[in-house]
Amino acid sequence: MELEPWQTELKNCVRTIDELEQYIPIENKERMREVLQNMRLSITPHTLSLIDFKNPNDPILLMSVPQEKELTFSPEELVDPIGDEAKSPVPFLTHRYPDRVLIYATFFCSLFCRFCFRRFKTGEANPGPVKSDIENIIDYLIEHPEVEEVILTGGDPLTLLDAQIEEWLRRLREVSSIRRIRFHTRVPVNLPSRITDNLISILKRCMDPIHPIFIVTHFNHPNEIAPENIAAIARLVDAGIVVRNQGPLLKGVNDDAGVLEELFKRLTDIRVVPYYLHQLDLAKGTNHFRVPIEEGIELMRQLQGNVTGIALPRYMLDIPAGKGKIPLVYEFAKKIEGNSWKIESPSGEKLEYQEPNSLN
Ligand code: SF4
Repeated sequence: MELEPWQTELKNCVRTIDELEQYIPIENKERMREVLQNMRLSITPHTLSLIDFKNPNDPILLMSVPQEKELTFSPEELVDPIGDEAKSPVPFLTHRYPDRVLIYATFFCSLFCRFCFRRFKTGEANPGPVKSDIENIIDYLIEHPEVEEVILTGGDPLTLLDAQIEEWLRRLREVSSIRRIRFHTRVPVNLPSRITDNLISILKRCMDPIHPIFIVTHFNHPNEIAPENIAAIARLVDAGIVVRNQGPLLKGVNDDAGVLEELFKRLTDIRVVPYYLHQLDLAKGTNHFRVPIEEGIELMRQLQGNVTGIALPRYMLDIPAGKGKIPLVYEFAKKIEGNSWKIESPSGEKLEYQEPNSLN
């Protein structure tokens, strides 16, 4: 069977240390092979074309190329940092919040991000759900009509074949309580050629005005927004799909107010809504990417006022053990007493704000 261009691109990913060495010198190959035992390697030709290999601090290089630092674990880091397994009533499904579930449709990704929070699953060649697992998932959804939103995740669900994606959508649409379907995917970032006309047709066929499909994608740096990515996003948005962005705050990659400002503004320009900026989950071997929460809150304070409200995401912490997400916020207003508040303007001016007494 003839491969589609995106499948050929997947076939041509860099997956071994020897292949990687053609782009960048590798000092200790044995240690690097150890790194790959914890988390496999894949970099797409598209992403390779965006990396400046002469710059060891290139942000896309840091996100894609394995480092020996991944073998250093801090005691606070966890195998399953957000408790996916603790809240999994049936295999390949996590039910953390009453109205929505995560379904791990595959553990394969086009590019294995070196900061991946789900590396305990994506890191090895884990088989995804088989037919009987899918039946169990559908039965669970039918038995739990309080679930109205399904998040297809993984791994990257858009690396599945068209027929597999269509089958998931068809089966989910048969469950009458499911109102919304989301895909969590880095394909628009790392493999934009995957957003084909046929994929768009499948997505459109499975939507109607009250059953939308959302794509939540994952751009972390403005350098990732190349012409091919912009075209892929345009195809999705023009088809009526709501596209949002979430991603972690990453040391050396985007822990800078100017970089974040540019990222959020450029995403908004291409009609992607910046949705969440995550505090990096406590996944094992990712400490070199971690930014202290205090710095993250300060970065968000700096962005307030400089970035239009329609482009400003919320900074979130996913609490370990599946306890859920909370926003991490700078306190711009503090109550003094009665109706008086001490407030801070976006430019840092300290002011007092008086509410009308009639409110009491
Ligand atoms: S695309 Fe998502 S699941 Fe896959 S490696 Fe990157 S962060 Fe992990």
